[in-house]
Amino acid sequence: MTTAQPLDVQPTPLALLLLGREADPKSERGVECPGDLPAPSDPDLVERARAAKAKLGEKVFVLGHHYQRDEVIEFADVTGDSFKLARDAAARPNAEYIVFCGVHFMAESADILTGDDQQVILPDLAAGCSMADMATAEQVAECWDVLTEAGVADQVVPVSYMNSSADIKAFTGKHGGTICTSSNAERALEWAFGQGEDRATTKVLFLPDQHLGRNTAVRDLGLSLDDCVVYNPHKPNGGLTAEELRAAKMILWRGHCSVHGRFSLDSVNDVRARIPGVNVLVHPECKHEVVAAADYVGSTEYIIKALEAAPAGSKWAIGTELNLVRRLANRFAPEGKEIVFLDKTVCFCSTMNRIDLPHLVWTLESLADGKVVNRIQVDEETEHFAKLALERMLALP
Ligand code: SF4
Repeated sequence: MTTAQPLDVQPTPLALLLLGREADPKSERGVECPGDLPAPSDPDLVERARAAKAKLGEKVFVLGHHYQRDEVIEFADVTGDSFKLARDAAARPNAEYIVFCGVHFMAESADILTGDDQQVILPDLAAGCSMADMATAEQVAECWDVLTEAGVADQVVPVSYMNSSADIKAFTGKHGGTICTSSNAERALEWAFGQGEDRATTKVLFLPDQHLGRNTAVRDLGLSLDDCVVYNPHKPNGGLTAEELRAAKMILWRGHCSVHGRFSLDSVNDVRARIPGVNVLVHPECKHEVVAAADYVGSTEYIIKALEAAPAGSKWAIGTELNLVRRLANRFAPEGKEIVFLDKTVCFCSTMNRIDLPHLVWTLESLADGKVVNRIQVDEETEHFAKLALERMLALP
């Protein structure tokens, strides 16, 4: 009789990463979540989160990004987009612990903008952002070499979206550029084009979201699609010739949001056919053809304000992350506003969704026991230059 031998099967690095148990050297996010997490089925999770938060009192300040799950948002002291939350954290200098329910780059920005004695914590270190991961410090340094070789680097002003790693923000600060959000991208581009000696020859390197860069340049600044080229970090010289770089006004990094990038022209046409009279409102991280076909375009905060101001009986199809759209649909249903998700398929931000109640409970209970877990800390030099770029944004006219 033979006995079954245990299989010598090792989990792959990808499987470990998906389980939140391993490092991803190519990622802007952290490594593993070392915690001994409570089971998601634990019926006392809500009570445990409440008790730990109450024990911490004023020492803790919990930030909840708009795209977080309801079970997490319930414990947020404030909600908002990434920049608003970083500023909210900076306005609470007495909070020793800032628990950032969002993704890695957001926690980094909060660390940059808060005091040295405040500790920023990300409940799951594997909560990264696929868009931020699309531009690494090495790739961007290589891009700058390509621009230098083409003889255009001294005409280029970098503008980086808030959704980028601290390294990319620092690169931007070092090279005279600014950060932008989806609310102030137009002002940031106007500012950048005014920085060079000659506006006609000044170029912008826009990182890492090609769609926000293109949509802002074409819709708001009146540039043409031909003024934009896409730099692909996976191709030699970004896949561009020196002539193409010299002719371009906007050099767009080939990055995108995996959530907003899913919406298509078909989603817009379908919803218009299904719901006569529907208003299509999308985020500027969507593709250009989607933005061009929409009725309204704006940041998360703009979307919320537009729905607040909408008349009863109006119908809306929203092109942004599903957790937020669902919450808005529930919030405005009693006012007779019909709000649907723009696409027919489910579209959560999977990395945002990594922060769940078990991670939050583990984080709060650890802090209440005096143990700081999952701290996000940006090194001094990176912080210095990243802050420079953030301060230029704050000073935008
Ligand atoms: S929604 Fe998009 S940009 Fe925002 S965190 Fe998720 S992947 Fe990143």
